[in-house]
Amino acid sequence: MSGKRRAIGLMGGTFNPIHYGHLVAAEAARDAFGLEQVIFIPSGMPPHKSAAFVAPAEDRYLMTFLAITPNPHFDLSRVEIDRAGPSYTSDTLAHFHRLGPDVDWYFISGADAILEIASWHAPEDIFEYAHLIAASRPGYSLSRLKAMESRLGPAHRARIHPLEVPALAISSSQIRERLRAGLSIRYLLPEAVENYIYKNRLYASDSHDGEGRATPPPDLRRR
Ligand code: ATP
Ligand code: MG
Repeated sequence: MSGKRRAIGLMGGTFNPIHYGHLVAAEAARDAFGLEQVIFIPSGMPPHKSAAFVAPAEDRYLMTFLAITPNPHFDLSRVEIDRAGPSYTSDTLAHFHRLGPDVDWYFISGADAILEIASWHAPEDIFEYAHLIAASRPGYSLSRLKAMESRLGPAHRARIHPLEVPALAISSSQIRERLRAGLSIRYLLPEAVENYIYKNRLYASDSHDGEGRATPPPDLRRR
């Protein structure tokens, strides 16, 4: 073995559903930072998303599996799905740090999410266990990221890495809205994921009750 440290990417998300924005950001990060692989980590119970309909974890896991399978450098982890309680990024990064204390872990996130990190659970652990790659996303300027960095101490600042990715104005919420409105989602996400959504009737028009609380479509209630 050479003395070069291993570098591995971690891409966390609700993946509700996974789409090309996630895949493009992960691949761009792999290229730019010489990551040997990127591990996708679908969240269990997401702490930030209680208001929106979130498909069952096993469906989000399978959709992520279908999306990443064609890329030999992409992998998938159940760590957040199998952990009870809310999915905190700090716990997940501590888990991977324990698995590989000598690995350089890179947590890949959209710049929008990075800007909110100070409000997440245990942000100091997040900074300690991983580098952060802030992928630019339409509507979130990297200058706001610079402003946030300047409020951090030098040690933390050094571990935030902005990354320009080809702009893709795709979001899972937009895909869910399009499905509810009966609009096409073709070319926004891999075809296998699109087929899975239709086959399992995810994100059907009756997936919300009047108060915005999640009510699974009838097919899912039987599970
Ligand atoms: P939602 O609209 O439900 O919030 P989302 O599209 O933001 O969904 P998440 O699962 O919340 O998807 O995102 C996981 C990670 O991927 C986050 O760090 C997010 O910032 C990033 N991300 C999502 N879409 C894009 C995109 N189009 N380009 C770059 N990064 C993205
Ligand atoms: Mg989001």
